[in-house]
Amino acid sequence: MGEPQEHISCLIIGSGPAGYTAAIYAARADLKPVMYQGMQPGGQLTETTDVDNFPGYPEGVSGPEMMIQLQKQAERFDTDVRSGWATKVDFSGDKHLVELDNGKHVVSADTVIISTGASAKWLGLESEIRLRDIGGGVSACAVCDGFFYRNQTVAIVGAGDTAAEEATYLAKLCEKVHMFVRRDEMRASKAMQHRVMNTDNIEVHFNTETVEVLGEEGVTGVRMINNVTKEEGQLDITGFFVAIGHKPNTDIFKGWLDLDEQGYIINQAGTSKTNIEGVFVSGDAADKVYRQAVTAAGTGCMAALDAERYLAAKGH
Ligand code: NDP
Repeated sequence: MGEPQEHISCLIIGSGPAGYTAAIYAARADLKPVMYQGMQPGGQLTETTDVDNFPGYPEGVSGPEMMIQLQKQAERFDTDVRSGWATKVDFSGDKHLVELDNGKHVVSADTVIISTGASAKWLGLESEIRLRDIGGGVSACAVCDGFFYRNQTVAIVGAGDTAAEEATYLAKLCEKVHMFVRRDEMRASKAMQHRVMNTDNIEVHFNTETVEVLGEEGVTGVRMINNVTKEEGQLDITGFFVAIGHKPNTDIFKGWLDLDEQGYIINQAGTSKTNIEGVFVSGDAADKVYRQAVTAAGTGCMAALDAERYLAAKGH
């Protein structure tokens, strides 16, 4: 990595609700935060349509609109919001080095707040991606979007704890939930499997893979195949949920930070602290369980407060 061209007191990497909340708190504490927005300015919420579960928006708000408002709020307190993404880090010294845009710029920072988030995995079907991109009823977050399918019939793909949890969540709202499991058993914990199997309006289709999500403007159905019998089938649905896992955006921190086996950053319980002093984590990069905008925002606040206390203890 080249020599740093700039020194920053508080560097924030990533611009979802965690990053912007960290920025608001850090800026108000006079840490003069600099934020690099990353590959997807605004984060995962820019992929959703309406956000109805973030406190303070009685009429709901669109995901992209909420992110614009968060950016404005962070900038009102003079956060320096920049486009660009972090491509390498060096956390070996007292000052933390971060390379941006493959070496175009290198900064050193007293504190780094990581809020690089996670990305939902998708099946990769053309029909799925097209309907997702037009807000046509394909979602990777049942808690965010399930409400829009009240009393309707939906399908969910996946067989882990997330899929099981989301299927039971959807079952409370929807008339019927079809769950597509690609093997002859689920990966989810036994307790979650029992909950799914004991929910009357969830029908589990084992050995089943999605062939195509049907619909032009919005989801109207799904075609699937039994990968053992090769029998094809079709169901009428209005919502298609994908819950096949997330990938935390933490690759550049490998070798520096303690990560779990799936790549999530391990924080010290009840704090945003990582194993490196002065490096803090917030949002989905460290959270595979809750993954909500409001929980990400909460941990962004924690990271800024932890950074402020760290700097104060160092006499900055
Ligand atoms: P997982 O990686 O555990 O599960 C992903 C599931 O998606 C697997 O069942 C997998 O099938 C399936 N899958 C993957 N790709 C495809 C595909 N292309 N087509 C169809 N199915 C596919 O992810 P989760 O998000 O469920 O969980 C992540 C972690 O978070 C886990 O450790 C989990 O235990 C934890 N978690 C804990 C919760 C809790 O404690 N309350 C709640 C939610 C998550 P296969 O099994 O065949 O590989």
